[in-house]
Amino acid sequence: MPVKVVVGAQWGDEGKGKITDILAAEANAVVRYQGGSNAGHTVVVGDREFKLHLIPSGILHEDTLCIMASGTIIDPICLAEEINGLRERGVHCDNLRLSGNAHVIMPYHRLLDALEEEARGSASIGTTRRGIGPTYTDKTRRMPRGIRMVDLLDQEVLRAAVADQLELKNAILQHIYGHAPLDTDEVIEEIADALPIITPYVTDARAIVRGCLDRDETVVLEGAQGTFLDLDYGTYPYVTSSHPVAGGACLGTGVAPTEIDETIAVAKAYTTRVGAGAFPTELHDECGDGLRERGAEYGTTTGRPRRCGWLDGVALRTSAEINGATGIAVTKLDVLDELATVKIAVNYEVGGERLERMPENLDRLEGATAIYEELPGWQRPISEAKSPAELPAEARAYVDRMAEIAGAPVLAVSVGASREQTVWF
Ligand code: GDP
Repeated sequence: MPVKVVVGAQWGDEGKGKITDILAAEANAVVRYQGGSNAGHTVVVGDREFKLHLIPSGILHEDTLCIMASGTIIDPICLAEEINGLRERGVHCDNLRLSGNAHVIMPYHRLLDALEEEARGSASIGTTRRGIGPTYTDKTRRMPRGIRMVDLLDQEVLRAAVADQLELKNAILQHIYGHAPLDTDEVIEEIADALPIITPYVTDARAIVRGCLDRDETVVLEGAQGTFLDLDYGTYPYVTSSHPVAGGACLGTGVAPTEIDETIAVAKAYTTRVGAGAFPTELHDECGDGLRERGAEYGTTTGRPRRCGWLDGVALRTSAEINGATGIAVTKLDVLDELATVKIAVNYEVGGERLERMPENLDRLEGATAIYEELPGWQRPISEAKSPAELPAEARAYVDRMAEIAGAPVLAVSVGASREQTVWF
């Protein structure tokens, strides 16, 4: 039975949640491998819409284990709220498992994230202010050691670790930001109500995933954000603090590279990005506004309007390589329904040179001009299409061109938000 990675091929918000949710129905386990509560997944089941930030989309399938692996970071307050919210709507969450090695987003991480971002002023990197960067920083700093989920199980251990952390944090808060120091007991008190809700799920996540592999079960490894928000391969510094690329699935779960059978790169039929950073295919006109409105391109977590533009084939080609895509899932194709022509950037022109791939030197990206290919639009609704043959020829040609650029076949085309609005190839 296969191990599948679902990875965002662009700057996140590709609609990975929907694709993972469909794959989860057939899977024994869905494992989130990186990121924290900065992710936002919207899954629509019937007439119910679930907005999830932390918990993998697989939670809606009661028979599928839903695991947050060691590469993720967990905000106890946010997680407890999410569990309570799901329980209120009849989703019991008994299938949830949390790695003891996942680091904990503490209240001071959120505070520092906000203070750091404010201090950056106009040079802000557009963080979600949810403490993601500071938590991963503590993980890599090592001493004083970052707090892990397993530390939440023992009050003495937790108290000592928080006290250690606050020595450094208070120095930063007071001397750099002129903020009042934090008190160990008050910090612990802030997360106290969440602990009995979340700690029963803490376990050895790698052992559970290993068990699934040993039993030859189907496992979906789910990334948050997208390839160009990767700390190493993204448009640094406007990136996240972890590794959304497919390689991050191995780091974050302990599954070996040789055990991965499929990598599904999820690519929206156009491009969006949130926050600052280079965006060669960005549209600053009515067409861009139209994509934003028809695609409801506002952040799930922050409500921020997303920047919108034509499909960036250079980015798609590059991310398909980095992720080793074995197939692509094209999402939100229906958002292009009304357009008379659609464009795909196939090259960048930088300083008189044509580039086929994202340059490693990102300073060059700032000055890149996108070179487009223009394809005819289909100008009719496609949301009812159930099979490839029911897609208009122009829409088919568009996704075929995407596959050609990615060097990987189309596995699915999403033509609407619901599970049923998916055309399988
Ligand atoms: P994710 O973080 O990659 O899962 O992406 P988001 O959840 O932020 O964004 C995807 C949004 O688009 C959600 O509101 C989905 O319900 C919606 N969506 C997903 N696929 C489609 C599609 O094919 N067409 C349309 N119109 N909406 C879609």
